[in-house]
Amino acid sequence: MGREAYWYAAIPYTDAGDKEHLMDGLRKAGIPDWLGLTRQQKFFGPLPEIEMASFPVQGGCHCGAVRYTLLAPALSVQHCHCSQCRKGYGVLAAQGAVVERSSLKIEGERDLTTYRKSPGYSTQFCKTCGCPLFAYEDSEARLMYFMPATLDGGVHPGHPADKEVHIYVGSSAEWERISDDLPKYEANCPDEIVTQIQRKPKP
Ligand SMILES: [Zn+2]
Ligand SMILES: [Zn+2]
Repeated sequence: MGREAYWYAAIPYTDAGDKEHLMDGLRKAGIPDWLGLTRQQKFFGPLPEIEMASFPVQGGCHCGAVRYTLLAPALSVQHCHCSQCRKGYGVLAAQGAVVERSSLKIEGERDLTTYRKSPGYSTQFCKTCGCPLFAYEDSEARLMYFMPATLDGGVHPGHPADKEVHIYVGSSAEWERISDDLPKYEANCPDEIVTQIQRKPKP
């Protein structure tokens, strides 16, 4: 499959008309019909084999004041290209991993600074070295985000291959080049795992 196919596969469809549009795109890109059209993940194609870490894994900030243990694999990872992440983290794209709050144990919490980035959303940085580590949505008591690039040794955060996407590609800096074949969304991506968890009754 070529790059074009991945792009089409990343377009979410919500009704029959959208599905027809998607099918048309897939046909033009040379995707055979037998691949089926029930779930977009089927079109992502083969991904490189990545050796998964065995859990728990450790991570932390640059200076070592804040450390954390990730007890279970991340649920999903987003590479966000929005202007908020550029200013908030000083990068062209910020990687955020979604995890259950109970899956992440933090040591050195008093060394964290909390910054309210927007109403209902806050991020946490190391007071000393400024490394961004965690983020929380007020509306979501069960889940949180962490910056998976801060895992020790660059280990894989353990998320399923089809739960890694680029979001807000439509807002990316004009000189950014995205060179992988992950699905790309112009704005946000409906994260099925998160949605399912959010539907569960709160404890
Ligand atoms: Zn630090
Ligand atoms: Zn962002």
